[in-house]
Amino acid sequence: MHIPFVSLYSQEKAALVDEILSDFRKIIESSQFILGPSVEEFEKEFAKVTGCRFAVGVNSGLDAIILSMRALGIGPGDEVITAPNSFLATAAAIQLVGAKTVFVDVNEDFNIAPEKIEAAITKKTRAIMPVHLTGNPARMAEINAIAAKHKLAVIEDAAQAIGAMENGKPVGSLGTVSAFSLHPLKNLHVWGDGGMIVTDSEELTVNLKLQRNHGLKNRDEAEFFSYNSRLDTLQSVVGRHFLKLLEQTTEKRIHNANLYSSRLSHLKGKLELPSVRPGVRHVFHVFQTRATHRDALKQFLSDHGVDTKIHYPLPIHWQKAAEGLGYKKGDFPVTDRLAGEILSFPIRENLREDEILSICELVDTFYKKV
Ligand SMILES: *Cc1c(COP(=O)(O)O)cnc(C)c1O
Repeated sequence: MHIPFVSLYSQEKAALVDEILSDFRKIIESSQFILGPSVEEFEKEFAKVTGCRFAVGVNSGLDAIILSMRALGIGPGDEVITAPNSFLATAAAIQLVGAKTVFVDVNEDFNIAPEKIEAAITKKTRAIMPVHLTGNPARMAEINAIAAKHKLAVIEDAAQAIGAMENGKPVGSLGTVSAFSLHPLKNLHVWGDGGMIVTDSEELTVNLKLQRNHGLKNRDEAEFFSYNSRLDTLQSVVGRHFLKLLEQTTEKRIHNANLYSSRLSHLKGKLELPSVRPGVRHVFHVFQTRATHRDALKQFLSDHGVDTKIHYPLPIHWQKAAEGLGYKKGDFPVTDRLAGEILSFPIRENLREDEILSICELVDTFYKKV
């Protein structure tokens, strides 16, 4: 038996390949390789799915966060609050605009702890950047209340959470401006790099469209010097087709998560399963557990052909890249502890039910022995 963690080529996606290639041909024949109607259509559809008025296609999730902060005028001298338990890019974006990353510890749900945010706010704080880690929405109602009280922007790092909701409202529509990634490993992806920014603000949208395209307001006139960070037109074709599968793949992931939970809940105390707050739709980008004897369990599963992963083995403040931030191991006790406990099981939409049951049996066997 071998159950890989990642396997992107599902039956449903394979069935769309011919249509995608035929749309590629149309673009090749029209030679509209940069922006154009396909990108605009994808933006409209993406905005709708995320409950926002506007969407701006960019070339990666990292750039989506960077451009969002620049659109808000965040730069040197400013501070942005986020969690140390995320993919590197969240903090990297803050550092790359010249602002200072201020970390606040997370809770057992892996997301920023709202009750610890106010203590980190200073006169320099401009924004809070919650990450909806693993596809589970951060506690946005509380975060937005704190932001409103202190007049801060809220930038959602929604890279892992397309389709997730809090109280019926999709992530992306919960903050001032929100960043998504279309990297192949994300729930909605393209065949390469891509990203999307969503917002209800027309002013931010105008600025973001300038920012991604050399600052150009038309062919010849630039408002400011800027990047080339456009979403590739061919990738917008892939995104549009895969968007049609999003509801179905999301429901499959939720179904898989429920199956794991029904078969593993008796291991409470040894293996903690992801809990979903009432009113929340968790889209299970990752099915992350907290395991006693984590490393031994990972090895045992690997010996029996089951790939698992750790998201992330090194919290950002442990990284060499973060040396200049002035943090050390131990500064964020929950994040520091979780790094030794977390273990992610395969959850992809093309996982078979019998595969999930085999994994659950192995986990059960392991905990009977230890
Ligand atoms: C993937 C990811 C990003 C970065 O996206 P890229 O498209 O790889 O640049 C940012 N934040 C989080 C939380 C992510 O998971």
